[in-house]
Amino acid sequence: MNGVGFSALVVQQGIDAALRAGFAPVKVNMVVKRGVNDSQILPMATHFRGTGVEVRFIEFMDVGTSNGWNTESMVPSSEIVRIIDAIFPVTSTGRHKPSDTSVRLRYADGQGSIGVISSVSQPFCGDCTRLRLSADGQLFTCLFASGGSDIRTPLRNGDSDDVLRRLVAGLWRQRADRYSEQRGQMNAVYSSQKVEMSFIGG
Ligand code: SF4
Repeated sequence: MNGVGFSALVVQQGIDAALRAGFAPVKVNMVVKRGVNDSQILPMATHFRGTGVEVRFIEFMDVGTSNGWNTESMVPSSEIVRIIDAIFPVTSTGRHKPSDTSVRLRYADGQGSIGVISSVSQPFCGDCTRLRLSADGQLFTCLFASGGSDIRTPLRNGDSDDVLRRLVAGLWRQRADRYSEQRGQMNAVYSSQKVEMSFIGG
C-alpha cells in the first residue's frame, strides 16, 4: 500500500539485503487496513517467522487527511493477535520500555516474535517520547500535529548548542499532545489541519 504502484518485490529484496548485511533486528511494519490487506496478516507472519525479521502490525491511523481513514477500516490489534495465535501460538512479553510503541509477542515454538502497535485501540500518549523533524526544519511534538516549531532559523543564525537545547527542552516541556487518547472528541476543523506522515516521517 504505497499509492504509487511500487513493487513489494523490491521491498523484499531490500529486507533480504539488510539481513545479509547483518542488520539486527530487522523490523517490518505492516499497517493493516480492513478489506485491503487484512487477508495478508497470516501470510506475513508465516513468511517472516524464523527469519530473524520481526513483523510489527500497526493499526490503521488517521495520520494526515489524505488516507481516507475511518474506524471501520481499522483492524484492532486484539483481532490481529487472535488470527495469528490461532495458528502460531504467541505469548505477550509486553512493552520492553515504557516509551516503546509496540507490544511484543513471542512465538511459543521459538520462531521469533511479532509486535503490535495499538495506537487507536490502546493509545499510549502518556509514554510518548517522539519528536519529529521535518525536512524544512520544523519540530513536531505529535504525529497528528497541525503545525511545527521552527528550528531552522536559530540553526541558520548560528545559535549555540545550548540555546538549541533549551529551545527543544522548552518545546517538550510545554507540549500537551494526547491526540490518540482524545480521538473521537476532535472537531472537523482540527482534523483537517493535520500534517501528512510523508512530511514528518513515521
Ligand atoms: S498521538 Fe501524538 S502524543 Fe499520542 S502517542 Fe501518537 S505522537 Fe505521541
